[in-house]
Amino acid sequence: MTLALSVGLLGSLSLPAAAATLTESTGTAAIVRSASERAAALPSGRTTYRTITDYNDEMLALSKQHPDLVKHITLPHKTRQGREVYGIEVTHDVNASDGKPVLLMMGMHHGNEWPSGEHTMEFAYDLVNNAKKDRQVKRLLDQARVIFVPVVNVDGFVINRRTSCGLSPTCAGNAGIDINRNYPFGWGSNAGSNATSRGPGPGSEPEVQNIMDLTTTNQATVLITNHTSGHTLLRPPLEKRAGDAPDEAAYSALTDAMAAKNGYTGMKSGFDYETTGETPDWSYYATRGLGFTFEIMKTQSTTNTYPEVIEDYLGTGRYEGKSNREAFMVALEYAADPAGHSVIKGKAPKGAVLKITKNFDLWTAPILQTGGVLDPPQAIPTHLESSLVAPTNGKFTWHVNPSVRPVPAYTANGVVATGPGNFLRESWTLTCARPSGEVLETVNVTVDRGEQVDVRLQECKKRFNGKGPKG
Ligand SMILES: [Zn+2]
Repeated sequence: MTLALSVGLLGSLSLPAAAATLTESTGTAAIVRSASERAAALPSGRTTYRTITDYNDEMLALSKQHPDLVKHITLPHKTRQGREVYGIEVTHDVNASDGKPVLLMMGMHHGNEWPSGEHTMEFAYDLVNNAKKDRQVKRLLDQARVIFVPVVNVDGFVINRRTSCGLSPTCAGNAGIDINRNYPFGWGSNAGSNATSRGPGPGSEPEVQNIMDLTTTNQATVLITNHTSGHTLLRPPLEKRAGDAPDEAAYSALTDAMAAKNGYTGMKSGFDYETTGETPDWSYYATRGLGFTFEIMKTQSTTNTYPEVIEDYLGTGRYEGKSNREAFMVALEYAADPAGHSVIKGKAPKGAVLKITKNFDLWTAPILQTGGVLDPPQAIPTHLESSLVAPTNGKFTWHVNPSVRPVPAYTANGVVATGPGNFLRESWTLTCARPSGEVLETVNVTVDRGEQVDVRLQECKKRFNGKGPKG
């Protein structure tokens, strides 16, 4: 008899698919069902597309059923039409301030790409269902936090349209704004043909600001934005003249590892077709977390395509052995692995509030105006900020993105192609404060990918426990 075994403890990145099947006599690892042996049903059991009410009700229900595992979140900005945008966070002991790295996963920037919301939601169910019983999922939820926003563009989704409603109070007769052309990094470029749908300004749209806020206040070491269709895995650059990402080697290795699971074609986004203003380029150049667009499904239509949604996720039927769920698991393994990000360790007084911040400008492209005129690039002030409360024993381990930042191709002077290995040796500013906010010590922490730095907060310790105003 042949059994499949979990590759969890070994790390799935390095294992080819064939290695996942071993004979009974060799295995001591946990025995789990392979994708094809798992019941050919989605984790939630759904067989039809969700409505926005379904998404919202299900996320609320999951958080109520699993209060230690699922936290319901409301994003800070309502849509242009005044709708709330919701998400959930999933990890063991979800309400703790824990310093875990984050996988951020989204669906439906484009409101007519329904499968992108379904796969996002199903992966959330998958982790919740398996949090205690699957060894790999259990371990990963000890190591990482996963944030899900299945429907980013709620206004577009409720009218089954790619774009949001834009500035008009009603969507009727309004072309809307493509919120996946509205991210500020490289915005306004004359690449591609998106000048009309990019929105009135860089990062002008509340739906985009929601995701920017999530990304800049969490340490998202991997970001996946799900779209349809074409079975591709897209990474920077969005336009060829921007050049390869400084982390192209890591990017292409992770792409290959994910593609080995779902059978999709990995490529640099600009070699599919050129755009700017999409999520992953902005998020990568702002945070250095690796951002990807997953173009799931081969079929773009939402008519009678739910069987394909199921098969694409599970790796059954026409996609036998090519499971997008397994590609998501590879992404989660990478998000959790300190080799792919940075670690700040130290000791601080119990209850002290630690904060890391960075401030810098990113830039738009030279901005294409009507008549072909190019206006100068605009600065995009960028502020990253995360906090952590020191635990009872004071020892903290904080998984963060590197302080060392990729050199962006979009500059005050126009587009200058970057390439592998081009980084800015910047630091995080780490403060140690009382709960009242009174800062007791400030240190600069320079840390690169795969590195760990130990910080000593002697001054904070002395002052926190000594005389002075208490929080
Ligand atoms: Zn899309």
